[in-house]
Amino acid sequence: MINNTIMSSTTRWVPKWTIISIELEDGKKIEACYDEITKLYACPYCTPICKKGGIPEQGSYFFNKEDLKEHIKAHSFNYWIKSKKEEEEEEEEEKIKGTEEEEEEGEE
Ligand SMILES: [Zn+2]
Repeated sequence: MINNTIMSSTTRWVPKWTIISIELEDGKKIEACYDEITKLYACPYCTPICKKGGIPEQGSYFFNKEDLKEHIKAHSFNYWIKSKKEEEEEEEEEKIKGTEEEEEEGEE
């Protein structure tokens, strides 16, 4: 029954996010999102918009907390390597975005 609601073509998935606190193995606590509609946990790094109650276009979702924890562990492990690698790519993206944003600045 839940699936029918989500798959309906007229209604988009409207998540009902609950902010939950997850304690990692090293004692660190992080906030993640749990959707009461789909019963899925969302990664706060891949899907930061969920904390604001938004509808994510993409992200990482998990059926249980343990899977989410494993995923978050991988995030902190890869963080330094990733941020170094992504620096170059992001620079190019910013140039494109910058042009678009300049046009919108006229609005008040
Ligand atoms: Zn993630």
